[in-house]
Amino acid sequence: MTSSTPPKEKPFEIAILGGGIGGLSLAVGLHKRHIPFHLYESAHAFAQVGAGVAFGPNSLRAMELVDPVLLKGYMKHVTYNAFPNKKSTWLDYYAGMDSGLGKEGEHFFEVTTGEGVLGMCCIHRAIFLHQLISLVPQEMVRFGKRAVTVEETSNGVQIKFEDGSEASASAAVGCDGVKSNIRKMVLGKEDPAAYPFFTGKYAYRGLIPMNKAVDLLGDELARNSIIWTGRQGHVITYPIEKGEIMNMAAYKTKRDGKWDNEHWVLTQDRKDMEDDYADWGDSVKKIASLMEKPDVWAIFDYPPAKSYYKGRTCLSGDAAHASTPHLGAGAGMAIEDAYIMASLLAEIEDEKGIEGAFRAFDAVRRPRTQKLVSMSREYGRVLDCERKRIGEDREKWRKDLADRHKWIWEKKLEEDLEEAVAMLEGGKARVS
Ligand SMILES: Cc1cc2nc3c(=O)[nH]c(=O)nc-3n(C[C@H](O)[C@H](O)[C@H](O)COP(=O)(O)OP(=O)(O)OC[C@H]3O[C@@H](n4cnc5c(N)ncnc54)[C@H](O)[C@@H]3O)c2cc1C
Repeated sequence: MTSSTPPKEKPFEIAILGGGIGGLSLAVGLHKRHIPFHLYESAHAFAQVGAGVAFGPNSLRAMELVDPVLLKGYMKHVTYNAFPNKKSTWLDYYAGMDSGLGKEGEHFFEVTTGEGVLGMCCIHRAIFLHQLISLVPQEMVRFGKRAVTVEETSNGVQIKFEDGSEASASAAVGCDGVKSNIRKMVLGKEDPAAYPFFTGKYAYRGLIPMNKAVDLLGDELARNSIIWTGRQGHVITYPIEKGEIMNMAAYKTKRDGKWDNEHWVLTQDRKDMEDDYADWGDSVKKIASLMEKPDVWAIFDYPPAKSYYKGRTCLSGDAAHASTPHLGAGAGMAIEDAYIMASLLAEIEDEKGIEGAFRAFDAVRRPRTQKLVSMSREYGRVLDCERKRIGEDREKWRKDLADRHKWIWEKKLEEDLEEAVAMLEGGKARVS
């Protein structure tokens, strides 16, 4: 091929169902690798969630592997901890109330990404989505298309949408999040794992102008990533928007363990949050006092799926492995999925190879992502002093949490891809 020959497009087309961080990352990865696709999003525009998102070192590597331009765009808008000695800090742990972990306001633990590795890297979700969208040709995107069913046909899949319209493709990837319809197609409606599970926790989320946060908390606590720990809850804050905004997520355990409301995001009054943290210390109360109308998010995750694919339909991102946010890794895993999925599809010649690619994806991605789901849940319980054998015993608590992030951050994704490609080549992932 001479340098003027345009790269050849693959002779098959992928339908991406859902345009969140997972679906858009996959679209960027497919576009980069000349794999035709259409993205169908149920909403009438891409979501503009008013909250920050934090990424660890693995997520940054995944962005670069999906498309180096994605990482470049992201780096323009990323915000780090403000203090130079906190550049490798993931979170500084402070006691948010008097407990066995420490006296209110005491700094007692720190999780770092390691010497010379960037610590918590944060961005406004809307800005990150905008970066992703800018890399996807808009003519490939259809809005107002809620996928209801996917059926196999003789040469691919037929997708039916809620508005009565239909589309066909060689294969479909369900990126439709924690309320996934496509998961029910893949696992079967009778499988309990097809349905999300309330984890017993909810979170107040909101954005606070940094000048107000600094006035109440001081520079160090407002401009760096901090976690306030206590019983049955914790509060995380970090800077976004180049330090103009402090992002806040305050977690609590719901005493009855149930979420009966059909809505999973509710707008609350500041008073509700203040009441919830009435027995916490001053710093957390100050943070609550800065919230006008916080959103409350019910935290659901998915039980382990027996498979991420069935025939020509596969799951990716939260639709495959929605997890609690306690390790700050769900969106990063969705980007990792996109890299592995797009790269595997780039390896195959034609549509006959798709099912093998899905099988190889499932083989390398399911163990890692399901480990995240269980580790993250467990992390939340230890963090909130709910793990019986650890409780508020500071030393046991620190020992338990010390290394929990490392396996996420230190993953060599290229090795997983190599393993998956070997399955394709060795025939293990081929369809017999
Ligand atoms: C409080 C909280 C804090 C978090 N913080 C972090 C963090 O700091 N770092 C991190 O890495 N992760 C974090 N996460 C997790 C992260 O938000 C998710 O893992 C990530 O957004 C999943 O992306 P997704 O694209 O798979 O799903 P989603 O973001 O849910 O996107 C799904 C998309 O599909 C669309 N859709 C739904 N149904 C259909 C359908 N039937 N047909 C077509 N389209 C459909 C939706 O409109 C949506 O656009 C957090 C989560 C929560 C709840």
